Amino acid sequence: MTHTTKRAARLFSLAILLLVVRAASAAPSEVSYTVALASPEQHLVDVQMILPAGSADRELQLPVWNALYQVRDFAQYINWIRAKDRAGKPLPLDESNDSRWHLQGAANGAIVEYQIYTDSPGPFGAQLNPHHAFLNLAQILIYEVDARNAPLTLHFSHVPADWHIATPLKSSADGFSAENYDRLVDSPVELGTFQESDFDEAGGHFRVIIDADPADYDMPKIVDHLHKIVAAAISWMNDRPFDTYTFFYHFPRGPGGGGMEHAYSTAIELSAASIKESLYPLDAVTAHEFFHLWNVKRIRPKTLEPVDYTKENFTRALWFSEGVTSTAEQTIQLRAGLINEEQYLGEIAEQITELERRPAHLTQSAEDSSMDAWLEGYGYYRRPDRSISYYNKGELLGMMLDLAIRDSSHGRASLRELLQWMNDNYAKKGRYFEDSKGVLEAADAVTHADLSSFFARYVSGTDEIPWNDFLRSVGLRVEAINATVADPGFIASRNFDGPMLVTSVTAGSDAEHAGLQVGDAIVELQGKPGGQESREEMQRLTPGDTLTVKVRSRRSGERELKWKVGSRQEITYQVKDLDQVTSDQRARRAAWLKGEAQN
Ligand SMILES: [Zn+2]
Repeated sequence: MTHTTKRAARLFSLAILLLVVRAASAAPSEVSYTVALASPEQHLVDVQMILPAGSADRELQLPVWNALYQVRDFAQYINWIRAKDRAGKPLPLDESNDSRWHLQGAANGAIVEYQIYTDSPGPFGAQLNPHHAFLNLAQILIYEVDARNAPLTLHFSHVPADWHIATPLKSSADGFSAENYDRLVDSPVELGTFQESDFDEAGGHFRVIIDADPADYDMPKIVDHLHKIVAAAISWMNDRPFDTYTFFYHFPRGPGGGGMEHAYSTAIELSAASIKESLYPLDAVTAHEFFHLWNVKRIRPKTLEPVDYTKENFTRALWFSEGVTSTAEQTIQLRAGLINEEQYLGEIAEQITELERRPAHLTQSAEDSSMDAWLEGYGYYRRPDRSISYYNKGELLGMMLDLAIRDSSHGRASLRELLQWMNDNYAKKGRYFEDSKGVLEAADAVTHADLSSFFARYVSGTDEIPWNDFLRSVGLRVEAINATVADPGFIASRNFDGPMLVTSVTAGSDAEHAGLQVGDAIVELQGKPGGQESREEMQRLTPGDTLTVKVRSRRSGERELKWKVGSRQEITYQVKDLDQVTSDQRARRAAWLKGEAQN
């Protein structure tokens, strides 16, 4: 304890010296940030931003969102902010709105300093604690609006002596640099005592950064899976638009889950328990986030470019950018040999069941669900009768579009050709595609056919998808099975980092009689903390089981409720062989499962 304090004091004086030297040396030519990990116990970061000489008046902005399609108002965490000139004289800095400041008198440059609280765990957040720091830089770094496209440098100070730094950013003399703010904040930073490995594959260099208890994972095994995933994805796209790519993993003990894509890296969080038995959850999210380096980061909808950090960035393309990335996630795992045909067909069946179970599939289109992404933080919006998921329907649309492309091109093209066409005609040319219209353009180009009715009916429309019409060409059909399933009498869901919230309670159910109310937060379910894992806990229930739930609400406080799990009839779907599968259908299926065109 004493040792750490002394070291911290020494580091502190060194940092002061560095800051003074930097501030007083020759006028800087670019914006430079120093992020001081000032007090990990309090989760406080001190940021110093040095602005070069230029306009006297400047607009400064902290993003209101990043990573998740949710406005999170990062400015809520700024404790104080002030500005001074290079001689230390205070400069006027006025709030234009809650996330924006107007700086005056900055003609000779300025120094802006602020303190920000960082304790948002997971791949979408910024967190400093005594164990480590993981930083989504958009959450903590203010940018100068007119200099957003100019180069920047980033330095860290007060870094504990035994911590290392990992980031895809380019290292410079005493820190890191980026060609512009967008690139800077697309580069997460991990500081801590993580484990690191690296490997080469398909001409690229890969770094693996894991912050977790070494007892909870097997590095060589993970690296082996990563080899397979990146090789499968790169060969599928026939492209590798990077030299080095970094995987960041966190495996917390306790709830956790999520992945965030970046152009040159990904940050993934999985609970240690979820990867204990099998690496399947890691393979799936890794294949998904890795494929994003093409789809969304480079094959990018016009509606997301340039990013508007000041408010919601509405787009109709998430069914493609997210959903079809999930389609690719499956194909990559198949090509990598990490899943087999049975698992792939099981995934389709599960996704169909999920979509058909939500009454909103008849009222909300895939495009509307993309537009409404910004509502996902609200419990009511997540109800099955209010919304569908663009991940869910988008993944299925990707699979059906693949079959439709194969069909209308007589096996000469597939989803792979569509994605490669978009990569060649948009990504590589620095152009952005026009949401669904851009995808249709690509589909028409690779098939030499007109696929507009597919888009009108299933992408912008809410027609029921005729699964069997699509699956027949590969000798498959969907079978609806009416089964008696456990019915706990309520539906709960959660925002990415929020509590599990009850969003509906079945009228007349035992859950209602026990006193469960809409809006209750589930603290514990069957003795386990409510969270990501509760979903699996719920799936294990059988009719007649006693369900014990600890809930909390503003009205009724914390209480424990018990009731008997009921039952209801539910349709689940299975994907099966047709009674007679022809050799043509078999050949088409083999090509489909490889993710390749037939001829
Ligand atoms: Zn995604």
